[in-house]
Amino acid sequence: MKYDYLIVGSGIYGAVCAHELSKDGRKVLVVEKRNHIAGNCYTENVEGINVHKYGPHIFHTNIDRVWRYVNQFADFNNFVNRPKANYKGEIYSLPFNMYTFEKMWGVKTGEEAKAVIEKQRAEANIGEPTNLEEQAISLVGRDIYEKLVKGYTEKQWGRDCRELPPSIIKRLPVRFEYYDNYFDAKYQGIPIGGYTSMIEKMLSGSDVMLNTDYLSDRENLDKLAGRIIYTGSIDAFFDYSEGHLEYRTVRFENEVLNQKDYQGNAVINYTDRQTPYTRIIEHKHFEFGDQEKTVISKEYSMNYTEGCEPYYPINDKKNTECYLKYKALSEKQNKVIFGGRLGEYKYYNMDDVIESALNMLETL
Ligand SMILES: Cc1cc2nc3c(=O)[nH]c(=O)nc-3n(C[C@H](O)[C@H](O)[C@H](O)COP(=O)(O)OP(=O)(O)OC[C@H]3O[C@@H](n4cnc5c(N)ncnc54)[C@H](O)[C@@H]3O)c2cc1C
Repeated sequence: MKYDYLIVGSGIYGAVCAHELSKDGRKVLVVEKRNHIAGNCYTENVEGINVHKYGPHIFHTNIDRVWRYVNQFADFNNFVNRPKANYKGEIYSLPFNMYTFEKMWGVKTGEEAKAVIEKQRAEANIGEPTNLEEQAISLVGRDIYEKLVKGYTEKQWGRDCRELPPSIIKRLPVRFEYYDNYFDAKYQGIPIGGYTSMIEKMLSGSDVMLNTDYLSDRENLDKLAGRIIYTGSIDAFFDYSEGHLEYRTVRFENEVLNQKDYQGNAVINYTDRQTPYTRIIEHKHFEFGDQEKTVISKEYSMNYTEGCEPYYPINDKKNTECYLKYKALSEKQNKVIFGGRLGEYKYYNMDDVIESALNMLETL
């Protein structure tokens, strides 16, 4: 066989595997069905700006080993995610913190903010919340619910908040201090030069074939390597024998604007129900760019249908049961290892996916 390992997918999971295995002297072939590497972290250079094509990706982690790991391949800038909400032209700070409460109610201290929330919670007279609306009001009061939660959540899920289960927002991050660092992670930043060049370095010791769908040429590709690491959708691997796993998906409308700045921040959520998109990403702000133009992406939530990008696994009872059937099938495949967000049907942040790949490699 020409290769020791065939890796299906050049996202961050596949790239970590490719780097570690080739460093260890194994011959590795990576096949990728898209026309580019880097999976959903892919950044594309448009007008000198690294555009996060599959959604904004902010690297954040508390795991020392993962932070040291990624720093081998890129220098990270000191970007900190401080998103804002735009409700009919009023700008609020996110996640909910004293800047948000001061703007909403004019309060200056945590005690005053807690008192307003408590009063609104009592007025709503909610016992055990039975839906998302009741859950949100009992956590943050009616004003914040109406202006910052309701419209955004309904756009995201395509349903009225009273028809959504309270479990979706079991916890809402609420800070009674002026602290607006969204992720609050030990390490945070954006790889200077974009994620694509970071992943390119990880793949440099391996052969890479783009525009190659493993599932369309499985018989021939299987013959090339002794073992396979598969990071595509697990249900597709088994030809959907146990049914289709469901996802939530989004789509982006990108615009290049002939102006230096559009919104003064990387991420702004549009929280009213009427604005059709959920947020606008202005990519240059991830890297403090001062280009003459700017690129923005409007993000729309959509129902998932076949052919859409599978973005967020829906880990409810039905899908979890379906996934467990596939997992049982995957455990019988001794030549194939399943990993990553599609292979394990799991929402993984980039740091989790790196750690998971490193842990898996240790077992090989
Ligand atoms: C909108 C959005 C925003 C996010 N923001 C953040 C963030 O801010 N911070 C963070 O840490 N994480 C974020 N994430 C999560 C991050 O994208 C994932 O952790 C990471 O991309 C997972 O890497 P992966 O290699 O498992 O999967 P992917 O990146 O999906 O890579 C899988 C690759 O396999 C390829 N593939 C699939 N099937 C086949 C096949 N049959 N043949 C060949 N190739 C195939 C795919 O084309 C893809 O390139 C975000 C995710 C989304 C959806």
